[in-house]
Amino acid sequence: MTKKPTIEILSFTPVALWSLDTQVENCAICRNHIMDTCIECQTGRAVTTECTIAWGMCNHAFHSHCISQWLKSKPICPLDTQKWEFNHGVGK
Ligand SMILES: [Zn+2]
Ligand SMILES: [Zn+2]
Ligand SMILES: [Zn+2]
Repeated sequence: MTKKPTIEILSFTPVALWSLDTQVENCAICRNHIMDTCIECQTGRAVTTECTIAWGMCNHAFHSHCISQWLKSKPICPLDTQKWEFNHGVGK
């Protein structure tokens, strides 16, 4: 006798579970959630500084570790290819 699995794939609607006023949810560089630590930190590579969020003037956000690595090769935002400038004025 074979039993048929009765698992149904229900349509899934992502819901914003957090209330920061931003469209950024994932770091486009490492694809980890922006509120999580970056992939470098998760794999336990030697990183001495805290994994913070870096905002650009274009309102995109990345892990500071990710964007600083990225900026070593290209001084542009990975998402819109504009010149990257840190937005230090973003409070929360
Ligand atoms: Zn990242
Ligand atoms: Zn990190
Ligand atoms: Zn951008």
